[in-house]
Amino acid sequence: MPTTKPYLRQYPDEKGFFGSHGGAELPPVLAEECVKIDQAYRTIGNSYDFISQLRSIRTHFQGRPTPVYYAKRLTEAVGGARIYFKREDLNHTGAHKLNHCMGEALLATFLGKKKLIAETGAGQHGVALATAAAYFGLECEIHMGEVDIIKEHPNVIRMKMLGATVVPVSEGQRTLKEAVDSAFASYFADPSTSLYAIGSVVGPHPFPMMVRDFQAVVGIEAREQFVAMTGNLPDHVVACVGGGSNAMGIFSGFLDDPVELWGVEPLGTGTTLGQHAATLRFGKPGMIHGFRSYVLTDDDGEPAQVHSVASGLDYPGVGPEHAHLFETGRTRVAGADDEAAIRAFYKLCRLEGIIPAVESAHAVAHAMVLAEEQPYDSVLVNLSGRGDKDIDYVYANYPPEEYA
Ligand SMILES: *Cc1c(COP(=O)(O)O)cnc(C)c1O
Repeated sequence: MPTTKPYLRQYPDEKGFFGSHGGAELPPVLAEECVKIDQAYRTIGNSYDFISQLRSIRTHFQGRPTPVYYAKRLTEAVGGARIYFKREDLNHTGAHKLNHCMGEALLATFLGKKKLIAETGAGQHGVALATAAAYFGLECEIHMGEVDIIKEHPNVIRMKMLGATVVPVSEGQRTLKEAVDSAFASYFADPSTSLYAIGSVVGPHPFPMMVRDFQAVVGIEAREQFVAMTGNLPDHVVACVGGGSNAMGIFSGFLDDPVELWGVEPLGTGTTLGQHAATLRFGKPGMIHGFRSYVLTDDDGEPAQVHSVASGLDYPGVGPEHAHLFETGRTRVAGADDEAAIRAFYKLCRLEGIIPAVESAHAVAHAMVLAEEQPYDSVLVNLSGRGDKDIDYVYANYPPEEYA
């Protein structure tokens, strides 16, 4: 009898394409490095030793599985579908990012590497990677724009306390894009003893595949837990999309199921270029950071300036697999603007006793819309992180009294 392989075993293809998106368009030296990482990952990543060590780390260091939780008071307040959360905010370090950082760092140790290198924007990826490096006794070098170093001071301190070196980047706008260039340059100066550890399901092949596979634990756990809890699959699964790693993580558990998958993009303050970071909704197919996907570009065809109240979501590209899943109709794209995200943020604080990351609050905002429209359904939201990092900013700019 002919059988079809599950979706995750079919994509990406050998060259790292998800349909027409993905791949690795790089200068020859860099392309060679990516081929080596791909081969190492496909062999080591599928070995018994690697899999069992990673599973042990998930349990004993990260505190997995994280729970699935029924949000009773929020559900009652919205007055519609049942709303559930996958609590990635309870993962060690307070977000989903550690799931792929521990995988990348474990791969580095199997390859005999001494050092992890990455860029960071708001500092979340830098902190997660510095944590993983400390766990494995690896050096860690985080490249960060000078503007972000000032803005994200607490995360700079965390990285330093965890033993990482923070490299200030003074070129151009002195933010994320220049930090990526700087981190790449440092990595390719000495790829034999270091590993580049990307922060989302973006970049050249094999990174989008690797990060997705390391995040899939979220979806695998969530599916089992949800079925055990309710006897059924959820009708909708909802996650916010910046680069798209937490969304690919939870979607991975449900791609072969009759479940509607929603990626929620940040609509910021308006629909004009520069006011949002809704790449799938407003972008066009193009190239960014060595891969093909949807991109928001300015008049010169360069990646555009973007905005979101959630700094983890303001990226002018999106993971290539999201572009593919969106084009084929497997996933749907929704949006939440800054105001809707902040309203959802306060709802969660007051009705559930959970301070969510403002990134995650975008997903909650759309879940509330869905719940109202589909009163007999169930909605599972990936609560990608906790909001401790956001409290000062939200308190100063969106005072609690105005959201009573
Ligand atoms: C970084 C971050 C995101 C955005 O990254 P994705 O790769 O799109 O998941 C979302 N939520 C939290 C809490 C984050 O720290």
